[in-house]
Amino acid sequence: MWGMIATWRMAVEGITKGAKLLKEQKGAGDAIETAIREVEDFPYYKSVGYGGLPNEEMEVEMDAAYMDGDTLDIGAVCAIKDFANPVSIARRLSREKVNSFLAAEGAEKFAHKEGFERKNMLTDRAKAHYRKRVKETAAQEIRPYAGHDTVGMVCLDMSGKMTAATSTSGLFMKKKGRIGDSPVSGSGFYADSRRGAASATGLGEDLMKGCISYEIVRLMGEGMHPQKACETVVNYLDAQLKERRGQAGDLSLIAMNPQGEWGVATNIEGFSFAVVTEKQEPTVYLVTRTEDGHCTFETASEEWMENYMKTRMAPIEE
Ligand code: ASP
Repeated sequence: MWGMIATWRMAVEGITKGAKLLKEQKGAGDAIETAIREVEDFPYYKSVGYGGLPNEEMEVEMDAAYMDGDTLDIGAVCAIKDFANPVSIARRLSREKVNSFLAAEGAEKFAHKEGFERKNMLTDRAKAHYRKRVKETAAQEIRPYAGHDTVGMVCLDMSGKMTAATSTSGLFMKKKGRIGDSPVSGSGFYADSRRGAASATGLGEDLMKGCISYEIVRLMGEGMHPQKACETVVNYLDAQLKERRGQAGDLSLIAMNPQGEWGVATNIEGFSFAVVTEKQEPTVYLVTRTEDGHCTFETASEEWMENYMKTRMAPIEE
């Protein structure tokens, strides 16, 4: 059995490429890196890699991570600027015994020395979004806004190896140096080939309060189906946050177990995800959350898919 599952519709081209490698018996490391690079390279996705939206100083600072579920190696970068593929830098770092999680200039120095491709990640389109946002919020204080979509992915290859990886430009208009859950082990991602793997998207500050990806893997390790594990953990954290703090930020999770069974859960409307397995062609699903906290999903229609691309590529009226 092999498979990949990832947050948001934007991952579907990536997992399609990844699946091709998995079918050729390539490893879960190469498949997941290839898949995430595809999302990083596409200029119209506003929250990952090239074309990602900037922080409040108009700089694109990115977070990314990679985890090998066989060895439990982890590599991560945070607040890194001007490199084309943060996920590849994270994967390279995962092979280091120490210094495997690097921030800002330190991460950039490492990437430079290792010969990773430099690229100005701030596009004209992202600048236009920035200017528009500044205008819109001129009357109020500038603050991170809720529109965000990290790519978080997990992968299982034919040999039974699992991996997890993330890549994001984080929250639009975040403070310089702000780091979310995506590069943080246990929160944004976790992979253990013996128990399963999970990854998150949503409000990093709240996702980190529950070490949410690790919790899902832990429950899968106790034999819980990924769907039940995702719902149990998301609903629990959502309820705790609401009870103790009056509100909960966006929490959306995807997971897969070593048998290739998968699950998702969210506390928002409008979450989408992409999945491919040995038994299933690459598919985008839209999630609906029922009153009692269950998640149901349906395949995205062609019309929805077309509309999605149209809105992503529409001119920006400033
Ligand atoms: N979790 C990410 C962060 O807080 C944002 C996202 O998922 O889009 O940086």
